[in-house]
Amino acid sequence: MYGKFQKYLQDELQAIEEAGLYKKERNIASPQSAEITLQDGRKALNFCANNYLGLADSPRLAAAAEKAMKERGYGMSSVRFICGTQDLHKELERAIADYFRTDDAILYAACFDANGGVFEPLLTAEDAIISDSLNHASIIDGVRLCKAQRFRYANADMADLEAKLQEAQACRFRIIVTDGVFSMDGNVAPMDKICDLAEKYDALVMVDESHSAGVVGPTGHGVAEQFDCYGRIDIFTGTLGKAFGGAVGGFTTGRQEIIDMLRQRSRPYLFSNSIPPMIAGAGIEMFKMLKESDELHGRLQANVEYFREKMLSAGFDIKPTQSAICAVMLYDAKLSQEFAAKMAEEGIFVTGFYYPVVPKGQARIRVQLSAAHRQEHLDKAIAAFIKVGRELGVLRK
Ligand SMILES: *Cc1c(COP(=O)(O)O)cnc(C)c1O
Repeated sequence: MYGKFQKYLQDELQAIEEAGLYKKERNIASPQSAEITLQDGRKALNFCANNYLGLADSPRLAAAAEKAMKERGYGMSSVRFICGTQDLHKELERAIADYFRTDDAILYAACFDANGGVFEPLLTAEDAIISDSLNHASIIDGVRLCKAQRFRYANADMADLEAKLQEAQACRFRIIVTDGVFSMDGNVAPMDKICDLAEKYDALVMVDESHSAGVVGPTGHGVAEQFDCYGRIDIFTGTLGKAFGGAVGGFTTGRQEIIDMLRQRSRPYLFSNSIPPMIAGAGIEMFKMLKESDELHGRLQANVEYFREKMLSAGFDIKPTQSAICAVMLYDAKLSQEFAAKMAEEGIFVTGFYYPVVPKGQARIRVQLSAAHRQEHLDKAIAAFIKVGRELGVLRK
């Protein structure tokens, strides 16, 4: 049997390769940081990690993880509701709810699971999910697992959202779902306007703060803080795998009865293992750190501003970012791949994206800034951009 199937897979893989879509991995032989060492000994500056607050190699978090492992062991060998809940898990859930100013929180192995397990327990075929067209894959999958009617509105387009809300008025319940920051343009969801429409059309609101928590808002608490929407958002989801330390783990936080129902019925929570004590312990320490000071967020913001300003004055075409994601527009798919490859030769890791990841003719280099970047890192990256930009003739002056 495998012979025919093998041939089929080989052909498919070859087609992926020929389309230039084959994903190759870089093997890093150092901690994740602004400066990384590859397996072959080469060093590079990393501008394509979600390490927004630079906590991925934090000694304080590593020490907290070690302490939790020593005191509470390596693993839980259980789902939460059988015998997989420690004091640490409850403490981390309280810290998350405190950070987002919500009633309660529930942990998952990843935000992918949080989004996969949020809709099906809460909504039925009588209800409607109204989802931004650029929402993350895990939201799309979560919606697919639920029988509710589906409506999709154009990215951050409030007129289209309003039209979809009107279409969905006959449904029992409606929920608007959006990412806080969209990962390709780095734009933020207009939460205040979304909440206004939700009130006008009697809808619930859910936001996935994976790329926005720790990053946007006056003290980095996410889009709820940026648009002062506390009390108007019913459900938040998020990850511990980006700004919040970069290890692994996800959560849903929000109104009490919603979290209570998820604990009873959310399948990735009920049928998947509890996060290990070290992740819970380090997570608690991470929220303590963010409460003590918003210095890391300040540094991130200063880095984003510095980078943007220098790149614009060098003549690059940059999307007006509102986050730590900076899209350097090249428009041409092949050019974006060539550009990223030349940047790698200069020791700078950035990612070239093109159709179908972004719309046709919208190819770009995505740069992700971090609080871990020092000025010399930024200057080196900018110099490499200018050198490669000149070579490839993409500078506007
Ligand atoms: C990264 C991301 C996720 C997935 O988070 P994991 O914890 O890595 O599973 C979910 N939603 C959004 C918007 C993301 O950016």
